[in-house]
Amino acid sequence: MLLVDVLAVNLTDRGCNLVHTAGLVVGRSSTIAFARGTPFGQSAASRNHPETMARLNRRSFLAAAAALAARPAFGAATPLAASVDVVIVGAGAAGIAAARRVAGAGRKFVLLEASNQIGGRCITDTSTFGVPYDRGAHWIHTPDLNPVTKLTPRRGIEVYPAPAGQKVRIGRRYAREGELEDFLSLQVRANRAIAEAARKGDVSCAQALPNDLGDWRPLVEFVLGPFGYGKDLVQVSAADFAKSAERTADAFCRQGFGTLLASLADGIAVHLSTPATAIDTRHNVAVETPKGTITARAAIVTVSTNVATSGAIKFTPELTSSHLDALGKLALGSYDHIALEIDGNPLGLESDDLLFEKSSDSHTAAMLANVSGTPLCLVEVAGTFGRDLAAQGEATMVDFAANWLAGLYGADVKKAIKRSQATRWNDEPWTLGAFSVAAPGAQSARRVLTAPMRDAIWFAGEAAHETLWGTVGGAWESGERAADAVLRRLGPVREAPAAPQAEAAPKRKAKPSRAAPQAPVRYGATPRIMRGEPR
Ligand SMILES: Cc1cc2nc3c(=O)[nH]c(=O)nc-3n(C[C@H](O)[C@H](O)[C@H](O)COP(=O)(O)OP(=O)(O)OC[C@H]3O[C@@H](n4cnc5c(N)ncnc54)[C@H](O)[C@@H]3O)c2cc1C
Repeated sequence: MLLVDVLAVNLTDRGCNLVHTAGLVVGRSSTIAFARGTPFGQSAASRNHPETMARLNRRSFLAAAAALAARPAFGAATPLAASVDVVIVGAGAAGIAAARRVAGAGRKFVLLEASNQIGGRCITDTSTFGVPYDRGAHWIHTPDLNPVTKLTPRRGIEVYPAPAGQKVRIGRRYAREGELEDFLSLQVRANRAIAEAARKGDVSCAQALPNDLGDWRPLVEFVLGPFGYGKDLVQVSAADFAKSAERTADAFCRQGFGTLLASLADGIAVHLSTPATAIDTRHNVAVETPKGTITARAAIVTVSTNVATSGAIKFTPELTSSHLDALGKLALGSYDHIALEIDGNPLGLESDDLLFEKSSDSHTAAMLANVSGTPLCLVEVAGTFGRDLAAQGEATMVDFAANWLAGLYGADVKKAIKRSQATRWNDEPWTLGAFSVAAPGAQSARRVLTAPMRDAIWFAGEAAHETLWGTVGGAWESGERAADAVLRRLGPVREAPAAPQAEAAPKRKAKPSRAAPQAPVRYGATPRIMRGEPR
């Protein structure tokens, strides 16, 4: 079993700027690796093959399920304070990270969550399939540097390296080595062309693509656009694409990325089912919820860009035009999982195999097979095609996935599909999409978003990170940074009034006020993983 600490060693540096690096290893560096690498000391033979590996260990599954089940009761038990130092809106990665920081500094805070669970776009569902199913984030990018894996408690949570490489299906057969080489070298060229274009001006990625991608063009476009970033390349800023941090390797969490994230909220009081409906910053900060109004000195708002501009929260005064503009230019793309339980591994794929199709148009998908050695397979649809498909409902999405697989492996595969479920993130009311991508010409919006608004509201979340946007790690870091900025703004914690002295005791001179928080909460500091970004 490979635990978190194993991840800190032996990482080969293969640049890639995809949201899901997925072992494509064709980033801005020139390295090409199309054969499966041997991940972190594992031999290929020891990889989790669904036919040979024990399925998810019962104890770790129960631990994951119990961890998740415990959350609502925990959140509901805490009364809503009327006045605090900081109100944090949203208990996804950014909100949890911010709350830990604020708690660690001994400041009073309230963490509000609109839905009935924590984690936001990083949640694990353990009930639909009886195995952990990450409905949002699943890939842990650059695990040796990822702040979330750095903090993972070891007990009951296993993080293991994602296999490098991918398979490509050309009709009913797999791509041969030479074909894969062609595909991967074209991706390297496409990545370089985008980076080159970004140096000259912030055009769209589509404008920057080389013209001679031949019949691999639709797949290159799918991998770099919808699969990587949730939008078609024509909607993606070349500068945003080029600035996104190189991801050298990926990992998975056997109990689910959402389980891992939720474990980091242990000890943090979360008010579930408590949406912020209005934030008034005319005198201090007043945050309205259906359960009452909380006053504070600052607010950290971690809701997605689409939620922030949806009108779900009424800001008084209104959002500044620069923030509103930035939020609009960082609108969320579309990315959904169509989860299929496929019995008996009829496709003959290994655990966590990543599969693409050499498609002739944008109506395509990717599949992560046999997730963590279970029969769960995730067919990924994204971009404009994925958005249109998801708008037609879950049944249409599942039909598409079944037909797509039948086209690649034959109609019999349909018989092996048992249970199914599809996410529809664009319709999730507290998210309204997948992850942010800057529109062409709008990369600078990310920095605008991180500036405080009227010295009272700090936006945080994946969109507010210049290099790790669209990821859980980026959201986490941005939450910590917003908290640090707020804590600086609030200054040192004042000393609590001295306890009454016994009459006979000599009066002691009060010590200079150096704030010792009551019941200090100590959380491990997260290493900075930003590259060249000012703090
Ligand atoms: C399908 C999908 C796949 C993804 N895959 C990956 C991946 O493999 N790896 C990766 O690193 N990232 C991935 N991501 C992106 C990643 O999930 C996000 O970047 C990250 O989780 C965002 O965290 P956040 O804290 O910024 O926002 P969120 O997680 O959206 O948290 C914001 C929280 O605010 C709450 N909220 C909204 N409105 C209100 C309100 N009015 N009052 C109170 N609370 C409110 C929401 O319910 C939510 O819990 C994926 C995302 C999706 C959707």
